Amino acid sequence: MRIRCGIQKSEYDLKTSAMRAYWTECVSQAMDDCGLLATPEQIESIAEAVEIGHENYGVAHGYDCIPNPDKLEIVKLEKALREEQEKIVCPDCNGKGIEVSYGGTRMSVSACFWCRGEGKRKP
Ligand SMILES: [Zn+2]
Repeated sequence: MRIRCGIQKSEYDLKTSAMRAYWTECVSQAMDDCGLLATPEQIESIAEAVEIGHENYGVAHGYDCIPNPDKLEIVKLEKALREEQEKIVCPDCNGKGIEVSYGGTRMSVSACFWCRGEGKRKP
């Protein structure tokens, strides 16, 4: 059964319990450092609050709204790759990228106007 983000339920449960154990240990250590006593249930409750606060930190401070430059670069590169893969062999120059024209006894060779000398172009 899938929960979210493609994570299987068992993987999600493992990550959740590992994170909760981490926060419980952090809270327990902090309480020891301050000389405070608490029941395991109280420590668990405080750990849950700290964990939720940690999860929502980005939303509370606007970090989730800032575009990730790496993701923007990936989107740009994927678009460029898609456009390159969609190109076809230029039918006007048969993929050579050059056009040869004759005028009397003269011959002229130039870059293909349609594909700009690449030999491939958009369909
Ligand atoms: Zn061409």
